[in-house]
Amino acid sequence: MDAKTFDAKSLLDDLFDNGVLFDSGIDGLYGRSGDFEEVIERFEAMVLREGEKDGATRIHFPPGMSRPALEKSGYMKSFPQLAGCVHSFMGGESEHAELLGKMATGDDWTEMQESTGIAMTPAACYPLYPTVAARGPVPDEGLLFALSSYCFRHEPSKDPARMQLFRMREYVRIGTAEQVSAFRESWLKRGRAMIEALDLPMEVDAANDPFFGRGGKMMAASQREQGLKFELLIPVASLKKPTACLSFNYHQDHFGETWGLKFADGSTCHSGCVGFGLERLAIALFRHHGMDVKRWPANVREALWSA
Ligand code: ATP
Ligand code: ZN
Ligand code: MG
Repeated sequence: MDAKTFDAKSLLDDLFDNGVLFDSGIDGLYGRSGDFEEVIERFEAMVLREGEKDGATRIHFPPGMSRPALEKSGYMKSFPQLAGCVHSFMGGESEHAELLGKMATGDDWTEMQESTGIAMTPAACYPLYPTVAARGPVPDEGLLFALSSYCFRHEPSKDPARMQLFRMREYVRIGTAEQVSAFRESWLKRGRAMIEALDLPMEVDAANDPFFGRGGKMMAASQREQGLKFELLIPVASLKKPTACLSFNYHQDHFGETWGLKFADGSTCHSGCVGFGLERLAIALFRHHGMDVKRWPANVREALWSA
C-alpha cells in the first residue's frame, strides 16, 4: 500500500480502470462488477453467521419508505440535506404535451411531477420502528432484527466510499437501556474481530452525525459527549481521514418516544443499531488487498469464502 494513492479521485479511477465499479456519469452512482457483488455477499454471510447466534428476525426493506414515516422520525429536522423523495408525473394529456415541450426547450419539467408519498430510505432501520410499533407491546426480553436495504443520501462525492445509493446491513435492538448497551458492546467486539480477520487496519472512535444548521452543531456535540455514536474507521481514500465502515448507535428513547414503542407495563423502549456499510467494506478490501480478488491474501479469502 503506497501512501501516494491515498486519494479519493485516484482510488475511484483505479476502481473504474480495473472494472470493479462502472461510471454512470453521476458521482456516487455506480455499477458494480460480479466480483464486487460476490465480496459483498460473502461479507454479508460473515455478518449473518455472527448474528444468527442471537436469533435475529430478518427483514429486507426496499430502498423506498413511507414519506410520512420519515417525516415523523425527525429526519427532515436533522438531515434535510441528505433526504430524497420520489416524485412522479400525474397529469393528463395536455400536461404531458406541456412536459415534453419544456424538455424540448430545456426548461425545468420536473416541477410538473408530484410527490408520491415515497421517500428514499436513508438508513436501513428507519422503516423498522413504525413496523414494530404497529405490532403492539414489546416483550420483556426485547426484540432483535437483522435488516438490509439499499439507502439513498444526497452527498455526491469523488470518494468512491461516499456513494449516493449504497447498501446497509443493520442489526437493531429494541429493549431496555441495559439490553441495548449490552448489544452495542457485543457488536463492538464482534465488529473488530471481523475486520481483523479481513486483515484491514482500523480504529474505533467516538463520532457524531452531520446534524443540519447551527442547532445541529449542538446536537452533534452532545451526541459525542454522551458517547451515543461510535464508528469503526478504516483508511480507504485518505490516511488522515479514515472512513466509517461500521457505526454503533444508541438512540436512547428517541425512536421509542416517537413511535410509541412500549413494554407491556407501559414503559418506553430504548433502541440501538449497528450499521455495516457494505460498499465501503468492499472498497476497503479492494483498496488494501488489490483490485484482483483472486490474488487477495489466503487468510482473507479463507475468512470470506468459508463463511
Ligand atoms: P460518514 O460520517 O462517513 O458520513 P455516517 O456517520 O453518515 O458516515 P451512518 O449514518 O452511521 O454513517 O451510516 C451507517 C453506515 O453506512 C456507515 O458506517 C457507513 O459504513 C455506511 N455509509 C454511510 N454513508 C455512506 C455513503 N454515502 N456511501 C456508502 N456507505 C455509507
Ligand atoms: Zn440504524
Ligand atoms: Mg454521513
